[in-house]
Amino acid sequence: MRSLLKRSIKRRDLLKYFGASLAGPAFKNLFRYKKVAAERLVSYVIPPEGVVPGLPNWYSSVCRQCAAGCGIQVKILEGRAKKIEGNPDFPVNYGSLCARGQAGLQVLYNPDRIKGPQLKVDGKFQKISWSRALSIASKRLSEIKAQEGEDSIHFLTEPLRGSLGSLFSTFAGGFETNVFSYDFTNDAGLMEANLRSFGEERFANYDIANSDYILSFGADFLDTWSSPVKHSKSFGQMRDGLVGKEGGRGRLVHLEPRLSVTGASADVWLAINPGTEGILALAIANVIIDEKLFDKSLGIDRAEWKKALENYSPKKASAESGVPKAEIVKIAREFIEHPASLALCGGQATAQVHGTSNAMAANILNFLAGNVGKKGGVFFNSPSPLDNNIEQSITVKGLSELSDKMAATEVAALLVYNVNPVFNMPEAVRFDENLRNVGFIVSFSSFMDETTAMADLILPSHTYLESWGDFVPLVDGGRRAVGLMQPVVMPVFNTRPVGDVLLSLAKNISGLPASLPEKKYFDFLKNSWKALYESVRESNQVEESFELFWEKSVQRGGW
Ligand code: SF4
Repeated sequence: MRSLLKRSIKRRDLLKYFGASLAGPAFKNLFRYKKVAAERLVSYVIPPEGVVPGLPNWYSSVCRQCAAGCGIQVKILEGRAKKIEGNPDFPVNYGSLCARGQAGLQVLYNPDRIKGPQLKVDGKFQKISWSRALSIASKRLSEIKAQEGEDSIHFLTEPLRGSLGSLFSTFAGGFETNVFSYDFTNDAGLMEANLRSFGEERFANYDIANSDYILSFGADFLDTWSSPVKHSKSFGQMRDGLVGKEGGRGRLVHLEPRLSVTGASADVWLAINPGTEGILALAIANVIIDEKLFDKSLGIDRAEWKKALENYSPKKASAESGVPKAEIVKIAREFIEHPASLALCGGQATAQVHGTSNAMAANILNFLAGNVGKKGGVFFNSPSPLDNNIEQSITVKGLSELSDKMAATEVAALLVYNVNPVFNMPEAVRFDENLRNVGFIVSFSSFMDETTAMADLILPSHTYLESWGDFVPLVDGGRRAVGLMQPVVMPVFNTRPVGDVLLSLAKNISGLPASLPEKKYFDFLKNSWKALYESVRESNQVEESFELFWEKSVQRGGW
């Protein structure tokens, strides 16, 4: 370069040198270009309708990370979901969200999601097209239906508290089989207890905000049990004394073997021996009856109750549960002294063999305190406004029966949606061992979990943030609400809505009744909301046209 500079460079020569230096890389890239797949930069000179580059849009939907069904709003910036917040209008969580709800984006963009349909060949999964996957599924199910009979095809799903439940029921009705709905956190025992105690096979709505004494048997209501965001807000109100009680704070006594979030927030946490919650609750009832502390307006026969509870003395219960006798007597007196006391039972206390009995024992305490249907007490959700959805979960016993059927080779095909029993069933159920007897397993999972790994065919479904749908919250806020989900982003991978897949299969499996005319789940959902609209219009709850009702519901995230 120095020698070059020593020479006098003419302007024309300088331009030549620059030209050559630019042309070199350009030619090199020209030849390299053929090897690289073409990519396009999409200009935002004309952005999609409603999009202003640099400004986020917020879309309402429903959190499906647990059965609580909180309302959410998702921040979308140039086509990507950036943040999830609580929907301030939704009458369950009123703008709040738990950590699990916030983590919904990790589900959506998780690189370990199943990215398209897969078929197991010689023990290994191979990627296949959707048309081939659907054709294999409909052909195999048609064959099984013809050869083994309709009742050899079974469905195993999470509880579907919305129109998707209705679609599953209608689809499975074509096979004359039952749909098994199962939730591993399993509140089936609690629902059964409510049926036996109060004639209501429903989840109860506990008025924590207006209570002044909570006695919780294993119900970790500030972390995972039931509707934790709603309960956390209510607990905050109870502690703040917003309901006008003097002193405000109320009292929380929590009985659970481990120090959970609720245990750590309690005034008293007692590490009870697992499985003895019901015995302890009956010992508290024993003291209430013995000391004539019960609500006299109940008109109960004290002698009869005394006899029924004679085996549950505080001394015996103390020996079984590990809770000191003096504590049992103290809790019984406090429970009645407080005018708005409330007994809860859930979590590990109901997800076990004695679950139903434990929950019934807690119901007895609510009954003796006379707080059923009273402010600060126990209420029951009104019936679901959507027809035919799958609210109930089977118990471990119910799932054992399915496992036994598989062992007896009575299940020729199993379609699994959003549950993983191979991982979370007790070993005694032998689910994985018996699943090997099922001839054709289809999984709709978006993740390669333990049950999906045993499937023959995977038809991966969208996540809730990519789907249309609706959901009736587990616990309502006094008025029955229905959350409405909308796709907030384009599908990230080559997945499909499970509703679309079922509708497609329904048309291609021979011999199914033509009860599912819709081609897309969106149409099925909208028809379901037309029925909801008609029912609420009849009761004068809306006056506008259906289209306006629908648009408003999409915008607000539900009705
Ligand atoms: S409590 Fe609400 S926000 Fe949290 S996971 Fe459940 S539905 Fe989502």
